[in-house]
Amino acid sequence: MNAYSLKLLALTTLLAASALTAAQVSPKPKPEDTEVWHPVPPVVTPGRTDADPPSDAVVLFDGKNLDQWVSAQDHAPAQWLVHDGILTVNKAHGVGNIETKRKFKDYQLHIEWRIPADITGSGQARGNSGVFLASTGPGDDGYELQVLDSYENQTYVNGMAGSLYKQSIPLVNAARKPGEWQSYDVVWTAPRFNQDGSLKTPAYATVFWNGVLVDDHFELKGQTLYIGKPFYKAYDRAPIKLQAHGDKSAPISFRNIWVRELP
Ligand code: MG
Repeated sequence: MNAYSLKLLALTTLLAASALTAAQVSPKPKPEDTEVWHPVPPVVTPGRTDADPPSDAVVLFDGKNLDQWVSAQDHAPAQWLVHDGILTVNKAHGVGNIETKRKFKDYQLHIEWRIPADITGSGQARGNSGVFLASTGPGDDGYELQVLDSYENQTYVNGMAGSLYKQSIPLVNAARKPGEWQSYDVVWTAPRFNQDGSLKTPAYATVFWNGVLVDDHFELKGQTLYIGKPFYKAYDRAPIKLQAHGDKSAPISFRNIWVRELP
């Protein structure tokens, strides 16, 4: 045996020994190694249809009353109109927006809305309303998911229905005709702020419009602004607000509003 063969033998022996050690240290992986059994997710009973509130939802409007809502201006009892199981915007002077009594952080929201069949006007003045995903002030302060007749009604695309107003452009136009009920299903991740009020993490919104994905984990640049570039203002928890827009078209209606707070 020459020197080369000796070296080769030594190396082979070493490799065999280390393979044996590895086999001893790491037993053969089993399917059970990657199974997680705890904690078990809580049981939630879904609604009869996906539009109905599941058992852990907070029902914000079930067609009967406005007990969960107040005026956004002065927190007096909400003065919008409840009739035939639906809620219609009250555009009378001085009534204004309404918002929930409860405050929320992260949540899943379901809300249905209907543009009147005989809607008039054009652009932003045709069935304008809005769902403020977090209401951070008495006026139009907060983060608005636009509600508008966007069925064959042109306007700037970051202001059509399905847009996070003046920030996102919906991926598609999933509008139904005026007179038909439409739905939004929203996942809202509230922004987080540092002690000094500076932004820690931005807000995100995912929106399904009539079941169609239109905003996909969209990162907001701040609160909704009609004029100028959005920026963040620190808040912790906030109500959800519905907009009484000042346009001259007939008021729109809402129904079946529920929310699930996320841990
Ligand atoms: Mg609006």
